[in-house]
Amino acid sequence: MKCRLCDSIAVISLPRHNSAFCRNHFVEFFQKQVKRAIKSYRMLNKTDRILVCVSGGKDSLTLWHILNEFGYNTTGLYINLGIGEYSEKSLEKAEAFAKRLNKELIVVDFAEEYTDIKALARFADRTDCSTCGVVKRYFFNRVAIEKGFDAVATGHNLDDEAARLLGNILRWQVDLVQKQSPVLDNEEGLKKKVKPLFRLTEQEIATYAFLNRIDYLREECPMSKGTTSLVYKEALNRIELESPGTKHFFYFQFLERKKDVFKHLKEDKKGVLSFCERCGTPCSGEYCAFCRLTDYLSKSAQTPCEHA
Ligand code: SF4
Ligand SMILES: [Zn+2]
Ligand SMILES: [Zn+2]
Repeated sequence: MKCRLCDSIAVISLPRHNSAFCRNHFVEFFQKQVKRAIKSYRMLNKTDRILVCVSGGKDSLTLWHILNEFGYNTTGLYINLGIGEYSEKSLEKAEAFAKRLNKELIVVDFAEEYTDIKALARFADRTDCSTCGVVKRYFFNRVAIEKGFDAVATGHNLDDEAARLLGNILRWQVDLVQKQSPVLDNEEGLKKKVKPLFRLTEQEIATYAFLNRIDYLREECPMSKGTTSLVYKEALNRIELESPGTKHFFYFQFLERKKDVFKHLKEDKKGVLSFCERCGTPCSGEYCAFCRLTDYLSKSAQTPCEHA
């Protein structure tokens, strides 16, 4: 297989673009996609201090790498969720990469301060991943506010975004569909959040990571097994095999059309938010999702054991 642009041997074939690229042209393509994402959604400025959320996996370390290549002012944030050996290995990868980039890595030890995600999910009677999502979102925002960052960047890719959209549509969660975007602007109590890799697939990110010798944790989180988001990703990959470009079309057409489709909902939503009475995070009730979650911990500590 030859590169579409220079006749050298291709390192990757991209059926969704009807293309194949050599090493140099693939890296150029990859960088262009990230630049386009940042520019079209006005995600970042060169003077911004950016908090990059890193898990030690390929997406987040690739994101950190490319933002650094582009000359952005970045700092990493790692949250220890207490997922046994997986968390230990993730932290090692994140620390080693911070060293390679010569950048600061902020580490928040949630597991030490509260408990591990699995235990918290059990107390709250929620799924592991939804519990984990609340905790991560809370600390991304809190650290960014407390330390004066301008934006929070996460490594969500096209596969993540398309799977999320599919899940929300399958359940007709219209408010979630409406909110889904590669950028969430600053609001009172909420820092701007950006997803500069949203134009790239997992396979493209893995190839970029390989070509740039990014040493990431290949192991998946043990709690990801059987999650619905994985099922949606697999379903989309199956469709993609039969009909290349469908995933891209599905998500990008949504982004193109959503402004018109959801115009009326935007008006209805104004003024609905209040602020958490404990931590000040915007929320829809008295307390934010994080404070409600961690409340389960204090309640469980107060409940006497029935066998005592
Ligand atoms: S798979 Fe679920 S539990 Fe594991 S890191 Fe991701 S969101 Fe958290
Ligand atoms: Zn080439
Ligand atoms: Zn709160």
